[in-house]
Order: sequence, then C-alpha cells, then structure tokens
Amino acid sequence: MPIRAILFDLDETLIDWSDFRGNWWELEPLHLRNVYNYIADGFPVEFDSDKFVQEFSRRSRLLWNAARDSLVAPHVGTLLVETASALGVPDEHIDRDQFITAYGWGPAEGTRPFAEVHRVLARLKGHGFELGIITNSFLPMRMRDAELDAHDLTQYFPRCRLSAADAGFLKPHPEVFRRALTKIGVGPKEAVFVGDNLAADILGAKSVGMKAVWRKPAAGGGGREYDIKPDATIQTLDELPGLIAMWL
Ligand SMILES: [Mg+2]
Repeated sequence: MPIRAILFDLDETLIDWSDFRGNWWELEPLHLRNVYNYIADGFPVEFDSDKFVQEFSRRSRLLWNAARDSLVAPHVGTLLVETASALGVPDEHIDRDQFITAYGWGPAEGTRPFAEVHRVLARLKGHGFELGIITNSFLPMRMRDAELDAHDLTQYFPRCRLSAADAGFLKPHPEVFRRALTKIGVGPKEAVFVGDNLAADILGAKSVGMKAVWRKPAAGGGGREYDIKPDATIQTLDELPGLIAMWL
C-alpha cells in the first residue's frame, strides 16, 4: 500500500530542546504560580503558592508513576482542578479552561525547531503527504499549539495534532496512534511514524502496523530498548524524503 501520511513525535523530533535554558522543575512552578495567582484573584485562599506547587507536584508524580504501567495520560487541566479542590477552593471558583489559560504555556526559552524541520516538512507537503503530530504531553494540544504557532509550524499539520492528554493515553498505547490515523483518514500501512523515543514512538507505531523511523538522538539513547527495531534509523530529518521514496 502506498505511503500517504507521515506522523511525527514533537519534542526532540521536531522541536530541539538542547538549548533549553533551565529545567522543567524550575519552569513548571512558574506556570503553576500563574494559576495560583488567578485563583487568589477571585477567592481568599488560605494556602500559599508553594503549597499549591507542592500539592500539584505530588499529584503529578503519582499519576506519572502509575502511567508507566497503565499508559493512562495525565492531563494538566485535571491535575489543576484536583489540586485546587483538594486545597479547599470551592467548585464555583474552579474552571478548568480558565486554569489552563492562566497556566500561560508557550515556547520554553531556547527551544526551537531543528534547523531542517521547515524545509523537510515543506518538501513532504509539496509531495502531497498528509502530516501529523502525536506528542506524549500532559498539556492539551491547545497549549502545545502556542509553540507550533510561534514556530510557524501549525500550517503543516492541519488535520492531526494530537496530545496524549487529549487522547487519554500515552504512546506507546495503540489507541493514540489509531486516533491519529483516524483524524488523517489513512490506515496504518499507509503511514510512517518518526520519533526519537524507541519505547514510546517506535514500539507504539509498529504495534499498530505503521512503519517506524527512529530519529536517533545526538546523545545516543537506547539502553535496554535496543531490542526495539525501527524500520529505519536517521540522524536528521533531511534523510526522510529519500527514505520514504524508497518505500513508495
Ligand atoms: Mg520525543
């Protein structure tokens, strides 16, 4: 069957985090304090922002630990609501959508698309391929879209930008891949997945019958996951059009 669609992982496949200035454990509290301030603006809270950050982080850790086995995706909106509720914020002051907006997610400082991303996506699009994204993020896609918009990448993915938070499951759960294929309207044999994570991206894509291309991380990656065999390994996305041409 001809290849009609190419789906990509987002972080470290399209977006380069190697120059990210800071770390997640410093970045996340900044966003959580935005939500705390939003809550405190509308309601006389009896806890400080540290308590809010602490409670959120505790709940988030529990969910991510459980997700290793269950692959049930945590969702930042649900976590924010549950955190506020556990700290005694009354229901009428809890609004998931407003919390998500207040969180204020955008491109993290220093992150950018890999140098070849625009030229490769434009070329693939020019060849008529449908393009899609599946990201293992606990941020719903409307939040990650802020990054895609800032990097002028949204244009390439009109039909399928899927976050695990929205799908309910994390890669490598087959449901996430099936959901993305349905959005694009192709079968697994008509689609290729490209990602940097052997366990999430390669194993997951292959489990539903897609071809899987491993964008090998500059640092190597792997470990015990080396028994997961991609259909091809590339160092840069520039290798992708030629590779897919061989599979057509
Ligand atoms: Mg990745």
